[in-house]
Amino acid sequence: MPSNSATTTGGFDLLARARDLVLEQGLGLPESDILEVLNLPDDAVPDALALAHEVRMRWCGPEVEVEGIVSVKTGGCPEDCHFCSQSGQFSSPVRSAWLDIPALVEAAKATAATGASEFCIVAAVRGPDERLMKQMREGVAAIKAAVGIQVAASLGMLSQEQVDELAAIGVHRYNHNLETARSYFTEVVTTHTYQERWDTLRMVRTAGMEVCCGGILGMGETLEQRAEFAGQLAELEPDEVPLNFLNPRPGTPFGDLPPLSAAHALRAIAAFRLALPRTILRFAGGREITLGDLGTREGLLGGVNAVIVGNYLTTLGRDPAEDLALLSELSMPIKVISGSI
Ligand code: SF4
Repeated sequence: MPSNSATTTGGFDLLARARDLVLEQGLGLPESDILEVLNLPDDAVPDALALAHEVRMRWCGPEVEVEGIVSVKTGGCPEDCHFCSQSGQFSSPVRSAWLDIPALVEAAKATAATGASEFCIVAAVRGPDERLMKQMREGVAAIKAAVGIQVAASLGMLSQEQVDELAAIGVHRYNHNLETARSYFTEVVTTHTYQERWDTLRMVRTAGMEVCCGGILGMGETLEQRAEFAGQLAELEPDEVPLNFLNPRPGTPFGDLPPLSAAHALRAIAAFRLALPRTILRFAGGREITLGDLGTREGLLGGVNAVIVGNYLTTLGRDPAEDLALLSELSMPIKVISGSI
């Protein structure tokens, strides 16, 4: 980890620059500066996190967006994303399963009961087939009839027709992660391209749905590629960025990678907030193993303004009550639903 005095001076200059550009003007840091944040010496990291927190408070406000996710179709995916235990190409022990409509509605109710404003329906697929689109039509209608919660979806790559239909049935936000930098993508996925993902995101934006796009850090990418990824997300201008840290799953090609250190994860949180001052930056999977309980607090005081409550798709998360108690202690109100559902 860099810690010489020249870098310390650089860190000071960098944070002064970031204060003017990001905090005062609301503009994202350029990629070269993002890389500097990722390389900050240890003694400059608390200042970087404090600045990222100021940026979040100035441009996003104190509210924290709480979301629950549910998987309608688990496992057996034909794609080969090397971090994913739901791929049917690896020996990772995730059984293929479908959720029916009543179970979906129950999950939405349980999510709303935590105070969450977002409920994301997720499926482990390359893209939706007609069976899944039918499930979405019926499921979203049933949820909207029963629960006051915004419905988001994450169903892989979409055709224009599917984009239009999801927008028409009232899916307000669509998640599709770029996962990593364009230059590293082929080391992570070989069954589809970065461009295919990018094309789906563009269609989602044009159709009027909010764009949710993030990725996973700690998959063997260099710091340069991590900075490149933040810059590419900034270019996309997503409404939300879920930030995951790799939780190495047994049986996947990345199963033996070491978890990202807390020191690198905290630099990344500050860097992504400074690259994306106005975006909802969500703590997603892996924060427990990378940062532990203390890190959740540090992240929420370092630029993060959204959390997923309950379980992730293939791993267990923290108890929702713990997160909600922490938000209360930090005097960060849970964002309520705005506009019509
Ligand atoms: S990340 Fe999604 S597309 Fe990739 S293998 Fe997992 S479920 Fe399939």
